[in-house]
Amino acid sequence: MKERWSDSDIIDDNQFQLVLDTMPGRVFWKDLNHTYRGANLAFARDIGFDSVADIIGKTDFDTSASQDQMQAFVDDDRAVMSSGMPKLRIEEPQTRADNRTYWLETNKIPLKDSDGNVIGLLGTYHDITDRVEARQEIEYQAVHDQLTKLPNRRYLMSRIEALDQMPNRSNWGALLFLDLDQFKQVNDSLGHQVGDCLLQLVAERINSTINVAQGVCRTGGDEFSVLLEDLGSDESLALQSATNRAESIVNGLAAPFYVNEHCLYIGVSIGLTLISPRSKYLQSKLREADVAMYEAKAQGQNIVQSYSEEMRLRTDRCYSLQNRLRQAVQTGGFNLVYQPQVDVDGTLICAEVLLRWNDDELGSVSPLEFIPLAERTGAIHAIGDWVLDAALQQIVDWESRFQLAPTFKLAVNISAVQFSDRNFVNKIKCAVASYGAAASRLELEITESLLLENEDNILIALNELRAAGFNIVIDDFGTGYSSLSYLTYIPFNKLKLDRSFISRIAADKHQHGIAMAVTMLARTLNVKLVSEGIETSEELAVLATLGSDLFQGYYFAAGLPSSDFAKRYLIE
Ligand code: C2E
Ligand code: MG
Ligand code: MG
Repeated sequence: MKERWSDSDIIDDNQFQLVLDTMPGRVFWKDLNHTYRGANLAFARDIGFDSVADIIGKTDFDTSASQDQMQAFVDDDRAVMSSGMPKLRIEEPQTRADNRTYWLETNKIPLKDSDGNVIGLLGTYHDITDRVEARQEIEYQAVHDQLTKLPNRRYLMSRIEALDQMPNRSNWGALLFLDLDQFKQVNDSLGHQVGDCLLQLVAERINSTINVAQGVCRTGGDEFSVLLEDLGSDESLALQSATNRAESIVNGLAAPFYVNEHCLYIGVSIGLTLISPRSKYLQSKLREADVAMYEAKAQGQNIVQSYSEEMRLRTDRCYSLQNRLRQAVQTGGFNLVYQPQVDVDGTLICAEVLLRWNDDELGSVSPLEFIPLAERTGAIHAIGDWVLDAALQQIVDWESRFQLAPTFKLAVNISAVQFSDRNFVNKIKCAVASYGAAASRLELEITESLLLENEDNILIALNELRAAGFNIVIDDFGTGYSSLSYLTYIPFNKLKLDRSFISRIAADKHQHGIAMAVTMLARTLNVKLVSEGIETSEELAVLATLGSDLFQGYYFAAGLPSSDFAKRYLIE
Protein backbone atom coordinates (compact mmCIF):
# COMPACT_ATOMS: atom_id res chain seq x y z
CA MET A 1 0.00 0.00 0.00
CA LYS A 2 1.30 3.48 -0.84
CA GLU A 3 1.89 5.68 2.17
CA ARG A 4 1.22 9.01 0.49
CA TRP A 5 -1.37 10.36 -1.90
CA SER A 6 -0.42 11.96 -5.18
CA ASP A 7 -2.74 13.92 -7.49
CA SER A 8 -2.43 11.33 -10.19
CA ASP A 9 -3.35 8.45 -7.93
CA ILE A 10 -6.27 6.33 -8.95
CA ILE A 11 -7.56 4.48 -5.97
CA ASP A 12 -6.39 0.87 -5.94
CA ASP A 13 -8.07 -2.12 -4.30
CA ASN A 14 -6.16 -1.81 -1.06
CA GLN A 15 -6.88 1.87 -0.70
CA PHE A 16 -10.50 1.20 -1.53
CA GLN A 17 -10.73 -1.43 1.23
CA LEU A 18 -8.96 0.95 3.64
CA VAL A 19 -11.58 3.61 2.96
CA LEU A 20 -14.40 1.13 3.43
CA ASP A 21 -12.95 -0.18 6.68
CA THR A 22 -12.47 3.32 8.01
CA MET A 23 -15.99 4.60 7.41
CA PRO A 24 -18.28 4.48 10.44
CA GLY A 25 -21.15 2.64 8.75
CA ARG A 26 -21.36 -0.84 7.31
CA VAL A 27 -21.22 -1.65 3.65
CA PHE A 28 -21.57 -4.86 1.66
CA TRP A 29 -22.46 -5.98 -1.81
CA LYS A 30 -23.87 -9.16 -3.23
CA ASP A 31 -24.32 -10.65 -6.64
CA LEU A 32 -27.58 -11.81 -8.17
CA ASN A 33 -27.29 -15.12 -6.30
CA HIS A 34 -27.28 -13.30 -2.93
CA THR A 35 -23.61 -14.19 -2.50
CA TYR A 36 -21.38 -11.67 -0.77
CA ARG A 37 -18.84 -10.17 -3.14
CA GLY A 38 -17.40 -7.54 -0.85
CA ALA A 39 -17.89 -5.64 2.43
CA ASN A 40 -16.10 -3.58 5.00
CA LEU A 41 -14.52 -5.09 8.09
CA ALA A 42 -17.15 -3.75 10.49
CA PHE A 43 -19.83 -5.53 8.53
CA ALA A 44 -17.84 -8.79 8.48
CA ARG A 45 -17.51 -8.62 12.26
CA ASP A 46 -21.21 -7.83 12.76
CA ILE A 47 -22.13 -11.07 11.08
CA GLY A 48 -19.57 -13.19 12.85
CA PHE A 49 -16.39 -13.16 10.66
CA ASP A 50 -12.88 -11.95 11.44
CA SER A 51 -12.03 -10.66 8.01
CA VAL A 52 -13.67 -9.50 4.85
CA ALA A 53 -12.03 -12.31 2.90
CA ASP A 54 -13.92 -14.84 5.04
CA ILE A 55 -17.31 -13.70 3.84
CA ILE A 56 -16.63 -13.49 0.13
CA GLY A 57 -18.58 -16.27 -1.49
CA LYS A 58 -20.91 -16.76 1.51
CA THR A 59 -24.65 -16.06 1.75
CA ASP A 60 -26.78 -14.85 4.66
CA PHE A 61 -27.44 -18.46 5.52
CA ASP A 62 -23.78 -18.81 6.51
CA THR A 63 -23.97 -15.94 8.99
CA SER A 64 -25.06 -15.58 12.61
CA ALA A 65 -28.48 -14.14 11.71
CA SER A 66 -31.58 -16.04 12.79
CA GLN A 67 -33.58 -18.05 10.27
CA ASP A 68 -36.37 -15.44 10.19
CA GLN A 69 -33.96 -12.59 9.77
CA MET A 70 -32.05 -14.34 7.00
CA GLN A 71 -35.23 -14.95 5.10
CA ALA A 72 -36.27 -11.30 5.57
CA PHE A 73 -32.85 -10.09 4.28
CA VAL A 74 -33.01 -12.35 1.25
CA ASP A 75 -36.61 -11.33 0.48
CA ASP A 76 -35.67 -7.67 0.67
CA ASP A 77 -32.62 -8.20 -1.54
CA ARG A 78 -34.69 -10.02 -4.11
CA ALA A 79 -37.27 -7.24 -4.19
CA VAL A 80 -34.60 -4.62 -4.77
CA MET A 81 -32.75 -6.60 -7.46
CA SER A 82 -35.83 -7.65 -9.37
CA SER A 83 -37.45 -4.19 -9.31
CA GLY A 84 -34.25 -2.25 -9.85
CA MET A 85 -35.57 0.19 -7.22
CA PRO A 86 -33.70 1.03 -4.02
CA LYS A 87 -35.15 0.51 -0.56
CA LEU A 88 -33.95 3.24 1.72
CA ARG A 89 -33.92 3.72 5.48
CA ILE A 90 -35.35 0.33 6.39
CA GLU A 91 -35.45 -0.22 10.14
CA GLU A 92 -34.62 -3.82 10.93
CA PRO A 93 -33.28 -5.99 13.75
CA GLN A 94 -30.05 -7.92 13.41
CA THR A 95 -28.91 -10.65 15.80
CA ARG A 96 -25.13 -10.61 15.94
CA ALA A 97 -22.54 -13.16 16.88
CA ASP A 98 -22.77 -11.99 20.53
CA ASN A 99 -26.45 -13.01 20.41
CA ARG A 100 -27.70 -9.49 21.09
CA THR A 101 -30.25 -7.89 18.87
CA TYR A 102 -29.23 -4.60 17.34
CA TRP A 103 -31.33 -2.21 15.36
CA LEU A 104 -30.14 -1.06 11.94
CA GLU A 105 -31.15 1.59 9.50
CA THR A 106 -30.43 -0.05 6.18
CA ASN A 107 -30.29 1.15 2.59
CA LYS A 108 -30.39 -1.40 -0.23
CA ILE A 109 -29.58 -0.13 -3.67
CA PRO A 110 -29.44 -2.13 -6.91
CA LEU A 111 -25.95 -2.37 -8.43
CA LYS A 112 -26.09 -1.77 -12.19
CA ASP A 113 -23.51 -2.21 -14.94
CA SER A 114 -22.78 0.48 -17.50
CA ASP A 115 -25.74 -0.74 -19.59
CA GLY A 116 -28.09 -0.35 -16.69
CA ASN A 117 -28.49 -4.09 -16.02
CA VAL A 118 -28.84 -5.09 -12.39
CA ILE A 119 -25.83 -7.20 -11.45
CA GLY A 120 -26.21 -7.25 -7.71
CA LEU A 121 -27.03 -5.18 -4.67
CA LEU A 122 -25.21 -2.66 -2.52
CA GLY A 123 -26.18 -2.50 1.13
CA THR A 124 -25.23 0.04 3.79
CA TYR A 125 -26.44 0.43 7.31
CA HIS A 126 -25.69 2.03 10.61
CA ASP A 127 -26.56 1.10 14.14
CA ILE A 128 -29.60 2.88 15.53
CA THR A 129 -30.08 0.62 18.58
CA ASP A 130 -29.85 3.54 21.06
CA ARG A 131 -32.47 5.51 19.19
CA VAL A 132 -34.84 2.57 18.83
CA GLU A 133 -34.44 1.51 22.45
CA ALA A 134 -35.10 5.06 23.64
CA ARG A 135 -38.21 5.16 21.49
CA GLN A 136 -39.32 1.76 22.77
CA GLU A 137 -38.87 2.99 26.33
CA ILE A 138 -41.00 6.03 25.63
CA GLU A 139 -43.61 3.83 23.97
CA TYR A 140 -43.55 1.48 26.97
CA GLN A 141 -43.95 4.33 29.41
CA ALA A 142 -46.82 5.78 27.44
CA VAL A 143 -48.86 2.64 28.02
CA HIS A 144 -47.62 1.62 31.46
CA ASP A 145 -48.04 3.00 34.92
CA GLN A 146 -44.73 3.90 36.52
CA LEU A 147 -45.71 3.03 40.07
CA THR A 148 -47.14 -0.45 39.61
CA LYS A 149 -45.59 -1.26 36.20
CA LEU A 150 -49.03 -2.37 35.08
CA PRO A 151 -50.40 -1.33 31.69
CA ASN A 152 -52.37 1.90 31.96
CA ARG A 153 -55.70 3.22 30.72
CA ARG A 154 -54.27 4.03 27.31
CA TYR A 155 -53.17 0.46 26.92
CA LEU A 156 -56.60 -0.77 27.94
CA MET A 157 -58.19 1.50 25.35
CA SER A 158 -55.91 0.14 22.64
CA ARG A 159 -56.71 -3.46 23.64
CA ILE A 160 -60.41 -2.67 23.52
CA GLU A 161 -60.00 -1.01 20.15
CA ALA A 162 -58.11 -4.03 18.83
CA LEU A 163 -60.83 -6.34 20.15
CA ASP A 164 -63.45 -4.16 18.49
CA GLN A 165 -61.75 -4.49 15.14
CA MET A 166 -61.18 -8.21 15.37
CA PRO A 167 -63.35 -9.91 12.73
CA ASN A 168 -65.45 -12.98 13.59
CA ARG A 169 -64.99 -13.04 17.31
CA SER A 170 -66.51 -16.15 18.80
CA ASN A 171 -65.79 -15.80 22.51
CA TRP A 172 -67.47 -13.76 25.17
CA GLY A 173 -65.33 -11.41 27.17
CA ALA A 174 -65.75 -9.21 30.21
CA LEU A 175 -64.45 -5.96 31.51
CA LEU A 176 -64.04 -5.45 35.25
CA PHE A 177 -63.61 -2.05 36.86
CA LEU A 178 -62.13 -2.10 40.33
CA ASP A 179 -62.10 0.79 42.74
CA LEU A 180 -60.46 0.43 46.13
CA ASP A 181 -62.72 1.28 49.03
CA GLN A 182 -61.58 4.08 51.30
CA PHE A 183 -58.11 4.22 49.79
CA LYS A 184 -58.15 7.97 50.31
CA GLN A 185 -58.18 7.39 54.06
CA VAL A 186 -54.88 5.49 53.84
CA ASN A 187 -53.36 8.33 51.83
CA ASP A 188 -54.73 11.01 54.13
CA SER A 189 -53.87 9.36 57.40
CA LEU A 190 -50.60 7.54 56.63
CA GLY A 191 -49.23 9.63 53.80
CA HIS A 192 -48.71 9.17 50.08
CA GLN A 193 -45.64 6.97 50.43
CA VAL A 194 -47.58 4.33 52.33
CA GLY A 195 -50.42 4.80 49.84
CA ASP A 196 -48.03 4.19 46.95
CA CYS A 197 -46.59 1.05 48.54
CA LEU A 198 -50.07 -0.25 49.18
CA LEU A 199 -51.00 0.33 45.54
CA GLN A 200 -47.96 -1.65 44.42
CA LEU A 201 -48.86 -4.53 46.69
CA VAL A 202 -52.49 -4.43 45.60
CA ALA A 203 -51.40 -4.48 41.95
CA GLU A 204 -49.20 -7.51 42.56
CA ARG A 205 -51.94 -9.30 44.43
CA ILE A 206 -54.57 -8.64 41.76
CA ASN A 207 -52.15 -9.79 39.11
CA SER A 208 -51.29 -13.00 40.90
CA THR A 209 -54.94 -13.71 41.75
CA ILE A 210 -56.29 -13.23 38.28
CA ASN A 211 -53.28 -14.23 36.24
CA VAL A 212 -54.24 -12.87 32.79
CA ALA A 213 -51.32 -11.80 30.64
CA GLN A 214 -51.38 -8.01 30.32
CA GLY A 215 -55.06 -8.10 31.33
CA VAL A 216 -54.78 -6.10 34.55
CA CYS A 217 -54.38 -2.36 34.11
CA ARG A 218 -54.13 0.53 36.51
CA THR A 219 -56.59 3.00 35.09
CA GLY A 220 -56.51 5.72 37.72
CA GLY A 221 -55.36 6.57 41.25
CA ASP A 222 -56.95 3.66 43.06
CA GLU A 223 -58.70 2.21 40.03
CA PHE A 224 -57.77 -0.95 38.22
CA SER A 225 -59.38 -2.81 35.38
CA VAL A 226 -59.25 -6.32 34.05
CA LEU A 227 -60.01 -7.29 30.49
CA LEU A 228 -60.97 -10.93 30.08
CA GLU A 229 -61.10 -11.90 26.44
CA ASP A 230 -61.59 -15.64 26.21
CA LEU A 231 -64.56 -16.65 28.28
CA GLY A 232 -65.97 -19.16 25.80
CA SER A 233 -69.01 -19.08 23.56
CA ASP A 234 -71.72 -19.54 26.19
CA GLU A 235 -73.07 -16.36 27.75
CA SER A 236 -74.08 -17.70 31.15
CA LEU A 237 -70.84 -19.64 31.59
CA ALA A 238 -68.94 -16.51 30.61
CA LEU A 239 -70.82 -14.49 33.23
CA GLN A 240 -70.17 -17.18 35.83
CA SER A 241 -66.49 -17.31 35.02
CA ALA A 242 -66.08 -13.52 35.04
CA THR A 243 -68.00 -13.26 38.33
CA ASN A 244 -65.90 -16.00 39.90
CA ARG A 245 -62.72 -14.24 38.90
CA ALA A 246 -63.98 -10.89 40.14
CA GLU A 247 -64.94 -12.50 43.44
CA SER A 248 -61.55 -14.10 43.69
CA ILE A 249 -60.07 -10.59 43.55
CA VAL A 250 -62.39 -9.39 46.33
CA ASN A 251 -61.38 -12.41 48.42
CA GLY A 252 -57.72 -12.09 47.47
CA LEU A 253 -57.56 -8.49 48.66
CA ALA A 254 -59.25 -9.36 51.95
CA ALA A 255 -56.00 -10.57 53.52
CA PRO A 256 -53.99 -7.78 55.17
CA PHE A 257 -51.17 -5.84 53.51
CA TYR A 258 -48.04 -5.00 55.41
CA VAL A 259 -46.45 -1.65 54.64
CA ASN A 260 -43.61 -0.67 56.97
CA GLU A 261 -45.01 -1.18 60.42
CA HIS A 262 -48.62 -0.87 59.27
CA CYS A 263 -51.04 -3.73 58.82
CA LEU A 264 -53.61 -2.48 56.31
CA TYR A 265 -56.92 -3.83 55.13
CA ILE A 266 -58.47 -2.60 51.91
CA GLY A 267 -61.76 -3.46 50.23
CA VAL A 268 -62.60 -3.27 46.56
CA SER A 269 -65.82 -2.57 44.68
CA ILE A 270 -65.99 -4.25 41.29
CA GLY A 271 -68.24 -3.44 38.35
CA LEU A 272 -68.51 -6.13 35.70
CA THR A 273 -69.85 -5.97 32.18
CA LEU A 274 -69.94 -8.74 29.64
CA ILE A 275 -68.66 -8.29 26.09
CA SER A 276 -70.68 -10.28 23.61
CA PRO A 277 -68.88 -11.66 20.52
CA ARG A 278 -71.26 -9.51 18.52
CA SER A 279 -70.81 -6.31 20.58
CA LYS A 280 -69.57 -3.38 18.57
CA TYR A 281 -68.35 0.03 19.73
CA LEU A 282 -66.73 -1.51 22.75
CA GLN A 283 -65.79 1.89 24.15
CA SER A 284 -69.26 1.89 25.69
CA LYS A 285 -68.15 -1.06 27.82
CA LEU A 286 -65.92 1.30 29.80
CA ARG A 287 -68.92 3.29 30.86
CA GLU A 288 -70.97 0.19 31.63
CA ALA A 289 -68.28 -1.23 33.89
CA ASP A 290 -68.00 2.17 35.54
CA VAL A 291 -71.75 2.38 36.15
CA ALA A 292 -71.73 -1.13 37.65
CA MET A 293 -68.76 -0.22 39.82
CA TYR A 294 -70.59 2.82 41.23
CA GLU A 295 -73.57 0.60 41.91
CA ALA A 296 -71.28 -1.77 43.83
CA LYS A 297 -70.06 1.21 45.85
CA ALA A 298 -73.61 2.39 46.52
CA GLN A 299 -74.54 -1.09 47.69
CA GLY A 300 -72.09 -1.09 50.51
CA GLN A 301 -68.72 -1.73 48.83
CA ASN A 302 -66.43 -4.74 48.71
CA ILE A 303 -68.74 -6.59 46.32
CA VAL A 304 -69.04 -7.44 42.64
CA GLN A 305 -71.91 -5.93 40.70
CA SER A 306 -72.82 -6.89 37.13
CA TYR A 307 -74.04 -4.25 34.77
CA SER A 308 -77.68 -4.27 33.70
CA GLU A 309 -79.68 -2.19 31.27
CA GLU A 310 -81.94 -1.09 34.11
CA MET A 311 -78.84 0.22 35.87
CA ARG A 312 -77.96 2.26 32.82
CA LEU A 313 -81.42 3.79 32.60
CA ARG A 314 -81.24 4.71 36.25
CA THR A 315 -77.80 6.26 35.90
CA ASP A 316 -78.78 8.10 32.73
CA ARG A 317 -81.80 9.48 34.51
CA CYS A 318 -79.68 10.49 37.47
CA TYR A 319 -77.15 12.12 35.19
CA SER A 320 -79.70 14.13 33.23
CA LEU A 321 -81.49 15.07 36.45
CA GLN A 322 -78.23 16.38 37.81
CA ASN A 323 -77.57 18.41 34.70
CA ARG A 324 -81.05 19.79 34.40
CA LEU A 325 -81.20 20.50 38.11
CA ARG A 326 -78.02 22.53 37.88
CA GLN A 327 -79.58 24.51 35.08
CA ALA A 328 -82.86 24.95 36.94
CA VAL A 329 -80.96 26.32 39.94
CA GLN A 330 -79.45 28.95 37.67
CA THR A 331 -82.41 29.82 35.52
CA GLY A 332 -85.11 29.33 38.14
CA GLY A 333 -87.21 26.40 36.97
CA PHE A 334 -89.00 26.01 40.30
CA ASN A 335 -92.25 27.13 41.80
CA LEU A 336 -94.10 26.61 45.07
CA VAL A 337 -97.47 25.19 45.96
CA TYR A 338 -99.22 25.51 49.31
CA GLN A 339 -101.02 22.70 51.12
CA PRO A 340 -103.39 23.69 53.93
CA GLN A 341 -103.14 22.34 57.45
CA VAL A 342 -106.38 22.64 59.42
CA ASP A 343 -107.59 21.99 62.94
CA VAL A 344 -110.39 19.66 63.93
CA ASP A 345 -112.99 22.33 63.04
CA GLY A 346 -111.51 22.76 59.57
CA THR A 347 -109.99 26.15 60.39
CA LEU A 348 -106.84 27.00 58.46
CA ILE A 349 -103.83 27.02 60.77
CA CYS A 350 -100.89 26.73 58.48
CA ALA A 351 -99.78 26.02 54.88
CA GLU A 352 -96.94 23.71 53.99
CA VAL A 353 -94.77 25.11 51.25
CA LEU A 354 -94.02 22.37 48.72
CA LEU A 355 -91.49 22.74 45.96
CA ARG A 356 -92.38 21.92 42.38
CA TRP A 357 -90.01 21.52 39.43
CA ASN A 358 -91.38 21.39 35.94
CA ASP A 359 -88.49 20.90 33.59
CA ASP A 360 -88.68 21.65 29.85
CA GLU A 361 -87.08 18.32 28.99
CA LEU A 362 -87.89 16.01 31.88
CA GLY A 363 -91.38 17.27 32.64
CA SER A 364 -92.57 17.43 36.21
CA VAL A 365 -90.10 15.82 38.62
CA SER A 366 -91.13 14.85 42.14
CA PRO A 367 -89.24 16.38 45.05
CA LEU A 368 -88.95 12.83 46.35
CA GLU A 369 -86.61 12.26 43.40
CA PHE A 370 -84.74 15.53 43.06
CA ILE A 371 -84.36 16.64 46.69
CA PRO A 372 -82.18 13.64 47.67
CA LEU A 373 -80.13 14.25 44.52
CA ALA A 374 -79.78 17.94 45.36
CA GLU A 375 -78.68 16.91 48.83
CA ARG A 376 -75.98 14.68 47.41
CA THR A 377 -74.68 17.27 44.97
CA GLY A 378 -74.94 20.25 47.29
CA ALA A 379 -77.48 22.00 45.03
CA ILE A 380 -79.85 21.90 48.01
CA HIS A 381 -78.20 25.00 49.46
CA ALA A 382 -79.16 27.20 46.50
CA ILE A 383 -82.55 25.52 46.18
CA GLY A 384 -83.26 25.94 49.89
CA ASP A 385 -82.32 29.63 49.71
CA TRP A 386 -84.67 30.09 46.79
CA VAL A 387 -87.57 28.35 48.60
CA LEU A 388 -87.06 30.45 51.70
CA ASP A 389 -86.92 33.63 49.70
CA ALA A 390 -90.02 32.81 47.65
CA ALA A 391 -91.95 31.75 50.78
CA LEU A 392 -91.05 34.99 52.56
CA GLN A 393 -92.04 37.03 49.53
CA GLN A 394 -95.35 35.17 49.51
CA ILE A 395 -96.17 35.71 53.15
CA VAL A 396 -95.36 39.41 52.91
CA ASP A 397 -97.53 39.68 49.80
CA TRP A 398 -100.43 37.85 51.48
CA GLU A 399 -100.08 39.96 54.61
CA SER A 400 -100.47 43.08 52.50
CA ARG A 401 -103.54 41.81 50.64
CA PHE A 402 -105.41 39.56 53.08
CA GLN A 403 -106.44 39.43 56.69
CA LEU A 404 -104.20 36.67 57.87
CA ALA A 405 -104.84 35.19 61.28
CA PRO A 406 -101.95 36.30 63.53
CA THR A 407 -101.09 32.66 64.14
CA PHE A 408 -101.08 31.66 60.45
CA LYS A 409 -97.73 30.26 59.39
CA LEU A 410 -95.99 28.97 56.33
CA ALA A 411 -94.20 25.67 56.91
CA VAL A 412 -91.01 25.41 54.90
CA ASN A 413 -89.19 22.10 54.53
CA ILE A 414 -85.52 22.32 55.42
CA SER A 415 -83.03 19.65 54.55
CA ALA A 416 -80.58 18.61 57.26
CA VAL A 417 -77.82 19.18 54.69
CA GLN A 418 -78.60 22.89 54.78
CA PHE A 419 -77.43 22.95 58.38
CA SER A 420 -73.92 22.03 57.27
CA ASP A 421 -73.68 25.65 56.10
CA ARG A 422 -72.38 27.32 59.24
CA ASN A 423 -74.02 30.54 58.21
CA PHE A 424 -77.42 28.92 57.77
CA VAL A 425 -79.13 30.31 60.88
CA ASN A 426 -77.85 33.75 60.19
CA LYS A 427 -79.00 33.48 56.60
CA ILE A 428 -82.58 32.69 57.66
CA LYS A 429 -82.63 35.50 60.17
CA CYS A 430 -81.30 38.00 57.61
CA ALA A 431 -83.76 36.83 54.94
CA VAL A 432 -86.71 37.27 57.31
CA ALA A 433 -85.48 40.69 58.35
CA SER A 434 -84.87 41.83 54.78
CA TYR A 435 -88.50 41.02 53.86
CA GLY A 436 -89.76 42.72 57.01
CA ALA A 437 -91.51 39.49 58.01
CA ALA A 438 -91.87 38.10 61.53
CA ALA A 439 -90.05 34.92 62.50
CA SER A 440 -93.32 33.69 63.97
CA ARG A 441 -94.73 33.46 60.45
CA LEU A 442 -92.37 30.64 59.62
CA GLU A 443 -92.31 27.02 60.59
CA LEU A 444 -89.29 24.93 59.70
CA GLU A 445 -89.95 21.25 58.96
CA ILE A 446 -87.05 18.89 59.40
CA THR A 447 -87.32 15.23 58.42
CA GLU A 448 -86.78 12.93 61.35
CA SER A 449 -84.50 10.47 59.57
CA LEU A 450 -82.08 13.19 58.50
CA LEU A 451 -82.22 14.81 61.88
CA LEU A 452 -80.77 11.74 63.48
CA GLU A 453 -77.69 11.67 61.28
CA ASN A 454 -75.80 14.65 62.57
CA GLU A 455 -77.41 15.81 65.71
CA ASP A 456 -74.76 18.07 67.14
CA ASN A 457 -74.52 20.95 64.73
CA ILE A 458 -78.24 20.75 64.03
CA LEU A 459 -79.08 20.89 67.70
CA ILE A 460 -77.17 24.13 68.18
CA ALA A 461 -78.78 25.68 65.12
CA LEU A 462 -82.27 24.57 66.12
CA ASN A 463 -81.90 26.10 69.54
CA GLU A 464 -80.85 29.39 67.99
CA LEU A 465 -83.75 29.31 65.56
CA ARG A 466 -86.22 28.44 68.29
CA ALA A 467 -84.87 31.30 70.40
CA ALA A 468 -85.30 33.63 67.42
CA GLY A 469 -89.02 32.80 67.31
CA PHE A 470 -89.26 30.20 64.54
CA ASN A 471 -91.46 27.13 65.03
CA ILE A 472 -89.65 23.82 64.64
CA VAL A 473 -91.47 20.79 63.30
CA ILE A 474 -90.33 17.17 63.20
CA ASP A 475 -91.52 15.87 59.83
CA ASP A 476 -92.24 12.27 58.82
CA PHE A 477 -92.25 11.21 62.45
CA GLY A 478 -91.87 7.46 62.85
CA THR A 479 -89.75 6.88 59.78
CA GLY A 480 -86.40 7.49 61.48
CA TYR A 481 -86.16 4.05 63.09
CA SER A 482 -84.03 5.25 65.91
CA SER A 483 -83.85 6.13 69.54
CA LEU A 484 -86.51 8.57 70.64
CA SER A 485 -84.11 10.18 73.08
CA TYR A 486 -83.55 13.10 70.71
CA LEU A 487 -87.11 14.21 71.51
CA THR A 488 -85.91 15.22 74.94
CA TYR A 489 -83.27 17.68 73.75
CA ILE A 490 -84.43 18.94 70.37
CA PRO A 491 -86.55 22.05 70.77
CA PHE A 492 -89.63 21.51 68.66
CA ASN A 493 -93.26 22.61 68.56
CA LYS A 494 -94.94 20.04 66.35
CA LEU A 495 -94.72 16.39 65.39
CA LYS A 496 -95.97 15.30 61.98
CA LEU A 497 -97.12 11.71 61.98
CA ASP A 498 -96.01 10.20 58.69
CA ARG A 499 -98.62 9.11 56.19
CA SER A 500 -97.32 5.53 56.31
CA PHE A 501 -98.97 5.20 59.75
CA ILE A 502 -102.25 6.62 58.52
CA SER A 503 -103.04 5.04 55.17
CA ARG A 504 -104.59 1.86 56.68
CA ILE A 505 -105.46 3.19 60.08
CA ALA A 506 -109.10 2.12 60.04
CA ALA A 507 -108.34 -1.52 59.21
CA ASP A 508 -104.91 -2.11 60.73
CA LYS A 509 -104.75 -2.57 64.49
CA HIS A 510 -101.01 -1.90 64.58
CA GLN A 511 -101.28 1.38 62.68
CA HIS A 512 -104.06 2.41 64.98
CA GLY A 513 -101.97 1.52 68.01
CA ILE A 514 -98.95 3.48 66.76
CA ALA A 515 -101.07 6.53 65.95
CA MET A 516 -102.59 6.38 69.41
CA ALA A 517 -99.19 6.10 71.07
CA VAL A 518 -97.79 9.03 69.06
CA THR A 519 -100.83 11.16 69.93
CA MET A 520 -100.21 10.49 73.59
CA LEU A 521 -96.50 11.15 73.17
CA ALA A 522 -97.25 14.56 71.62
CA ARG A 523 -99.64 15.40 74.40
CA THR A 524 -97.12 14.38 77.05
CA LEU A 525 -94.39 16.41 75.41
CA ASN A 526 -96.81 19.29 75.09
CA VAL A 527 -96.41 19.69 71.34
CA LYS A 528 -99.02 19.67 68.58
CA LEU A 529 -99.54 16.54 66.52
CA VAL A 530 -100.19 16.93 62.80
CA SER A 531 -101.55 13.93 60.90
CA GLU A 532 -100.33 14.21 57.35
CA GLY A 533 -101.56 12.51 54.21
CA ILE A 534 -105.23 12.27 55.17
CA GLU A 535 -107.19 11.12 52.15
CA THR A 536 -110.52 9.95 53.54
CA SER A 537 -113.13 11.07 56.04
CA GLU A 538 -112.61 7.76 57.81
CA GLU A 539 -108.92 8.45 58.41
CA LEU A 540 -109.85 11.93 59.61
CA ALA A 541 -112.49 10.59 62.00
CA VAL A 542 -110.15 8.01 63.55
CA LEU A 543 -107.31 10.50 64.01
CA ALA A 544 -109.61 13.20 65.38
CA THR A 545 -110.95 10.69 67.89
CA LEU A 546 -107.44 9.75 68.91
CA GLY A 547 -106.76 13.43 69.60
CA SER A 548 -104.61 14.61 66.69
CA ASP A 549 -104.54 18.42 66.75
CA LEU A 550 -104.03 19.24 63.08
CA PHE A 551 -104.69 17.59 59.74
CA GLN A 552 -103.21 17.81 56.29
CA GLY A 553 -103.88 15.79 53.16
CA TYR A 554 -105.60 15.43 49.83
CA TYR A 555 -108.91 15.03 51.69
CA PHE A 556 -108.73 18.81 52.25
CA ALA A 557 -106.55 19.85 49.35
CA ALA A 558 -103.36 18.95 47.56
CA GLY A 559 -100.64 21.57 47.23
CA LEU A 560 -102.26 24.57 45.51
CA PRO A 561 -100.73 27.34 43.42
CA SER A 562 -100.57 30.54 45.41
CA SER A 563 -103.58 32.21 43.72
CA ASP A 564 -105.80 29.12 44.17
CA PHE A 565 -104.77 28.83 47.77
CA ALA A 566 -105.57 32.49 48.40
CA LYS A 567 -108.94 32.20 46.65
CA ARG A 568 -109.93 29.19 48.77
CA TYR A 569 -108.48 30.00 52.16
CA LEU A 570 -107.66 33.66 52.60
CA ILE A 571 -110.04 36.53 53.37
CA GLU A 572 -109.54 39.94 51.78
P1 C2E B 1 -93.17 16.11 53.22
O1 C2E B 1 -92.53 17.34 53.75
O2 C2E B 1 -93.53 15.05 54.17
O3 C2E B 1 -94.39 16.63 52.40
C1 C2E B 1 -95.59 15.96 52.30
C2 C2E B 1 -95.70 15.23 51.06
O4 C2E B 1 -96.85 14.43 51.08
C3 C2E B 1 -95.86 16.16 49.84
O5 C2E B 1 -95.28 15.48 48.75
C4 C2E B 1 -97.34 16.18 49.67
O6 C2E B 1 -97.76 16.53 48.36
C5 C2E B 1 -97.70 14.75 50.00
N1 C2E B 1 -99.06 14.63 50.44
C6 C2E B 1 -99.82 15.55 51.08
N2 C2E B 1 -101.03 15.06 51.32
C7 C2E B 1 -101.06 13.81 50.82
C8 C2E B 1 -102.07 12.80 50.77
O7 C2E B 1 -103.19 12.95 51.22
N3 C2E B 1 -101.73 11.63 50.19
C9 C2E B 1 -100.51 11.42 49.66
N4 C2E B 1 -100.26 10.25 49.09
N5 C2E B 1 -99.51 12.35 49.68
C10 C2E B 1 -99.82 13.53 50.27
P2 C2E B 1 -94.28 16.22 47.82
O8 C2E B 1 -94.69 17.62 47.58
O9 C2E B 1 -94.09 15.32 46.68
O10 C2E B 1 -93.00 16.30 48.69
C11 C2E B 1 -92.33 15.17 49.02
C12 C2E B 1 -91.22 15.46 49.98
O11 C2E B 1 -90.24 16.28 49.34
C13 C2E B 1 -91.66 16.30 51.16
O12 C2E B 1 -92.23 15.47 52.11
C14 C2E B 1 -90.38 16.91 51.59
O13 C2E B 1 -89.62 16.00 52.37
C15 C2E B 1 -89.67 17.11 50.28
N6 C2E B 1 -89.83 18.51 49.90
C16 C2E B 1 -90.84 19.11 49.25
N7 C2E B 1 -90.59 20.43 49.09
C17 C2E B 1 -89.39 20.66 49.67
C18 C2E B 1 -88.58 21.84 49.86
O14 C2E B 1 -88.93 22.97 49.51
N8 C2E B 1 -87.39 21.69 50.50
C19 C2E B 1 -86.99 20.46 50.96
N9 C2E B 1 -85.82 20.38 51.58
N10 C2E B 1 -87.73 19.36 50.80
C20 C2E B 1 -88.92 19.45 50.17
MG1 MG C 1 -92.87 18.47 55.13
MG1 MG D 1 -93.83 14.57 55.79
